[in-house]
Amino acid sequence: MTYSWDRRIARAGELSRTCPAASELLIFYQQLARFQKSVFERLAAAGEHDVPALLPFFAELIALVRKAGSPSLAKAAAALEMDSKEERLSLLDSVWQHQVETGDLAGEYALFAQALLQPYAEFLAGKSQMTDEGSPSLCPFCGSKPQLAVLRPEGDGAKRFLICSLCATEWTYRRVICPNCGEENKDRLPVFSAQEFDYVRLDACDTCHTYIKAIDLSKNGNAVPIVDELASISLNLWAQENKYHKMRPNLFGV
Ligand SMILES: [Zn+2]
Ligand SMILES: [Zn+2]
Repeated sequence: MTYSWDRRIARAGELSRTCPAASELLIFYQQLARFQKSVFERLAAAGEHDVPALLPFFAELIALVRKAGSPSLAKAAAALEMDSKEERLSLLDSVWQHQVETGDLAGEYALFAQALLQPYAEFLAGKSQMTDEGSPSLCPFCGSKPQLAVLRPEGDGAKRFLICSLCATEWTYRRVICPNCGEENKDRLPVFSAQEFDYVRLDACDTCHTYIKAIDLSKNGNAVPIVDELASISLNLWAQENKYHKMRPNLFGV
């Protein structure tokens, strides 16, 4: 199950009105999602589907970020503007081939790499036939870490799925196990939630001190996980203060 670009764009608009604390971020995300939708559509229309096919989109993304991004992102956009084609390509390749973790990329470059690779990976994943076997902690299509978890109602309870941070593929994952280190002891896997987001929780692990956010669709069927994750960004900051690291930071590095 994937969410259309239009649904993500609309949800970002809705939440920007109801979650004032994350409003600015959601409005910026909405602009990025519109850009990503157009990259997705232009890739679908083109015959070339290798990573270099993304190079022509850099200029547009740089202009968007310079106009709508934070001062530090605008600075990174200006630096990227000076980079050669080869440097831009190597930025994309290094993330696509898992040579670097996005959290380790210099400055704010992670946003640019992900903003371009997400629609690319999602386009390729949509064309492939995938089997949902076992319970891998990395994406069965592109090998990236999950961005978040989602709980869907099933029988009397809910089933947990992970959503890929790059290609948005969703796959089933056992409920009581840490996707980062494999810890299975329930006592070491605390779950945190906050009153203002009763359908959002943090599945944490006291063995590796990471967490993954989970969106509970049995409590809020309107949620679009990737967008609601941004709306509830205050929980990420709470986790940081409590020494839990996110398994994979979102598009904005949080
Ligand atoms: Zn993936
Ligand atoms: Zn763990």
